[in-house]
Amino acid sequence: MRDDNCIFCKIANGEIPTNAIYEDDGYKVILDMGPATRGHALILPKEHYKNIYEMPADKVGEAFALAKVMADRMTKKLNADGFNIVQNNNEIAGQTVFHFHIHLIPRYEGDGQVIGWKPCDSSPEELASLKELLI
Ligand code: AMP
Ligand code: ZN
Repeated sequence: MRDDNCIFCKIANGEIPTNAIYEDDGYKVILDMGPATRGHALILPKEHYKNIYEMPADKVGEAFALAKVMADRMTKKLNADGFNIVQNNNEIAGQTVFHFHIHLIPRYEGDGQVIGWKPCDSSPEELASLKELLI
């Protein structure tokens, strides 16, 4: 399934040229045009899924298995010191392109990037009640 108005559909399916570093029948991995660090790349499924909620679990698993392969390869070839794998869903979570993608972000000592969150306060009661809700 494709969305004619989706830029990542066009990139993943070869209608717009890009710097691809990996391709198979289901996925294209491209260099991010606004990289957080040297080598920042994106895994794009060729099929259009808006986000993780719309994507079947087996496809999500496939995409993350590819993330593992790419993390190994990129860490080695780029001589990276670590690696962030980031996947945003919906605007509130930072998603700006509404075609499922996984960020592959090699990390280097002293790269100055901040990828994370500010820890908030919690309480044992709150954690216990969340556990009951989510179990
Ligand atoms: P997100 O905020 O998780 O939706 O991430 C979207 C990412 O796509 C950002 O890191 C952008 O820099 C990147 N991006 C957007 N358009 C393009 C494009 N045409 N080619 C490569 N990367 C892109
Ligand atoms: Zn798309």
